[in-house]
Amino acid sequence: MKRVLTARFMHETNTFSRVPTDTAMIRRRDYHLENEIPEAFRGTRSAFGATFEAADKFGWALVHPVSANPNPSGIVTDTAFETIAGVILGAVDTKGPIDGVLLHLHGAMVSESHEDAEGEFLARLRSRVGPEVTIVVTLDLHANVTQYMADNANALIAYRTYPHIDQYERAWQGAELLERAMQGEIRPRTVIARRPMMYGLDHGRTQRGPMAELIARGEALENSGEVLAVSICAGFSRANIHDVGPSVTVTVDGDTARGQGIAEEFMDYAWQTRDFTTVKLLPVAEVVALAREGKPGDKPLVVADYTDNPGGGGYGDATAFLKSLIDAGIDNVAFHAICDPEAVQDGMRAGVRSKTSLTLGGKTDPAMGGGPLSLTGEVVCLTNGRFIAYGPMGGGIERDYGPSMVFRVGGIDIVVITNNGQAVDLGQLTSLGIDPTRYRTVAVKSMQHFRAAFEPIAREVVLVDTSALCSEIYTPELFTKVRRPVWPLDPI
Ligand SMILES: [Zn+2]
Repeated sequence: MKRVLTARFMHETNTFSRVPTDTAMIRRRDYHLENEIPEAFRGTRSAFGATFEAADKFGWALVHPVSANPNPSGIVTDTAFETIAGVILGAVDTKGPIDGVLLHLHGAMVSESHEDAEGEFLARLRSRVGPEVTIVVTLDLHANVTQYMADNANALIAYRTYPHIDQYERAWQGAELLERAMQGEIRPRTVIARRPMMYGLDHGRTQRGPMAELIARGEALENSGEVLAVSICAGFSRANIHDVGPSVTVTVDGDTARGQGIAEEFMDYAWQTRDFTTVKLLPVAEVVALAREGKPGDKPLVVADYTDNPGGGGYGDATAFLKSLIDAGIDNVAFHAICDPEAVQDGMRAGVRSKTSLTLGGKTDPAMGGGPLSLTGEVVCLTNGRFIAYGPMGGGIERDYGPSMVFRVGGIDIVVITNNGQAVDLGQLTSLGIDPTRYRTVAVKSMQHFRAAFEPIAREVVLVDTSALCSEIYTPELFTKVRRPVWPLDPI
């Protein structure tokens, strides 16, 4: 029986965030050890769900020490990185010998000591398991992939959808590849190509444009049998690191020269199309005017605050858009969300159905999308913030936003949460008694993931700019560690 090590250690590090990712934050939500992992993920449409199914099919004995997936936030402390990495590497020593590895990483983790935290981790893992053991890694489409990562993994398999709804399929692809390698049928190796660009590929949008084009070409090559896997990563650009930016990796059996040629050709296309964008942000006043146009019985106008996206490391407590809605007297609004643990505690002390005054949001950094608001309203609902997400991105997995509240101010129902997270599932509202289809305006904080669940219920979708932490600002003053010359900082 083959013994396969699997683990999940995912973080998208926004190096501009002032919220450090420490061990306590990692343990706060979506964190499981050992036997908690099958209990949480068996039977779900998730990377681990697929991993357990593959283990059953191929007869693997799985070693699964940890699953850690903190919300995107600031730089990972050395203690946190060493703790989680240590749990995984320790399992190689105590539960080995290991015949194969199937890891689920994000690929944009930055720790205090390691800009390329995944590269560092994979190098340590490689030295533990030795050169003959196949290491297969699934990655987020927004991974910043490095040469070091490609050198220390046999295969890198990135998501192909944004919103990401194919973690399950990619994990299965990785599992099948690993099984073939362990049977001695193939010897996968991975090559990488990059260009001097900080972003591109339409920030990874897969509906149309260059990303969709390259994914289709990659899948055609996989289907022809010419290569084992082609992964296109758009990168995560809120990272002041040397290797930020898009990449193409090609996993081949044997000869790497052909794979390198494909990767270079694909990246030439990414370079040529670097200006292509479908992201259009509207100013707050314009969006408030659109909200005012809603008539009784209309489906909701769905507004996403792109710049305070908790899924990109945003603080999730920016108040600029909320303040403008209140000031303009817009009603029939569901607002998701303000992340403010203190305000939830205040609401709990006041109790359901009580009128109270709160200081809400804008506390992490008032310069990022608006400072705290002093509001008087009614505590409409209090919950523990837990529910099972069944939407397109939910997979049937329990989510935990911590103690949560609906605070009603005028005609606006404001969701206030304890654990930060972007809006990706209607359950984030319905679990609090809010039916989003019955509001004329639904506000969320997200760049793109919200679309999977919220576009189908919307009369129109717009993106609003509140100048919060995830604003797409590219200046040499912010990006001091990026390799130079690089587009768009330098004329190339
Ligand atoms: Zn992503």
